[in-house]
Amino acid sequence: MNNKLVISFEFFPPKTAEGVAKLRETRKQLAQLQPKFFSVTFGAGGSTRDRTKDTVLEIQAEGYEAAPHISGISSSKEAIRSLLADYRANNIRHLVALRGDIPSGEVTAGDFRHANELVTFIRQETGNWFEIEVAAYPEVHPEAKSAVSDLQYFKSKVDAGANAAITQYFYNADAYFRFMDQCAASGINVPIVPGIMPIYNYIQLSRFSSVCGAEIPRWLRSRLQDCGDDLASLRSLGMDVVTDLCEQLLSGGAPGLHFYTLNQAGIISTIMQRLGIQHG
Ligand SMILES: Cc1cc2nc3c(=O)[nH]c(=O)nc-3n(C[C@H](O)[C@H](O)[C@H](O)COP(=O)(O)OP(=O)(O)OC[C@H]3O[C@@H](n4cnc5c(N)ncnc54)[C@H](O)[C@@H]3O)c2cc1C
Repeated sequence: MNNKLVISFEFFPPKTAEGVAKLRETRKQLAQLQPKFFSVTFGAGGSTRDRTKDTVLEIQAEGYEAAPHISGISSSKEAIRSLLADYRANNIRHLVALRGDIPSGEVTAGDFRHANELVTFIRQETGNWFEIEVAAYPEVHPEAKSAVSDLQYFKSKVDAGANAAITQYFYNADAYFRFMDQCAASGINVPIVPGIMPIYNYIQLSRFSSVCGAEIPRWLRSRLQDCGDDLASLRSLGMDVVTDLCEQLLSGGAPGLHFYTLNQAGIISTIMQRLGIQHG
């Protein structure tokens, strides 16, 4: 397996002391796979600002590269400026820049309507200090007017200065390869790393997927439903499906894998072992 693969793991910032301790264990296990970086999500509007920062600084203090997510929606330029300054002062050099999703019922106001505006602002304020990742949607963002406009807006984030992209998760490798062809035809040349969602729990996956527009193919949905309450069977099926997906992606030329870990290591370690990736 190619040692130059970009492997990364995404965490959410824990809320409790127990969650913090559990994430330390998870990180210890996943660090053995020598990822390029660990990223930490950010609640739109700044709701997790301190927890995201604390988690990122802890990862950095352990000697690993940490990339905080930063979302523009319902934030002011001043708030983002101060967050960037804070990260810079702590020698954080990598960001995942997003529009963000506002929890339903909350009013949104702010200086950034879309992620391209946030990327432009980060470059204006901090030059090339940060390596910037943005989000990409092989199965098209759920609010997009069309697949064509979604691709154009993705390009506008890259043109604004993003260095690389991470995709929303999907279970159909062809969607990724088709998207890669369309990106190449549009002159988008940055690495686009597929985001991988291991299957932990059917109800949770189904709920996430309907919100973020990720498609669960009918055959997979029905096999997962067949597992019912048998969690062991569901996880075993999920591991087979996700390992196979990763194999197809890597053998088709994907530059790496970004795992949505949900702060758990076990399933991912097994998938990586099966893929023969021991050293990132
Ligand atoms: C890898 C990854 C990590 C994520 N991490 C987080 C996180 O930490 N916190 C969080 O809240 N959410 C996170 N998300 C979810 C993300 O915020 C949502 O998917 C959100 O709905 C879109 O974010 P975006 O950055 O892709 O937005 P945008 O690129 O702004 O796109 C959003 C929609 O607007 C359209 N659009 C884009 N630009 C324009 C424009 N200039 N004019 C008009 N329309 C436009 C697009 O077609 C798309 O439909 C993550 C998603 C991914 C894939």
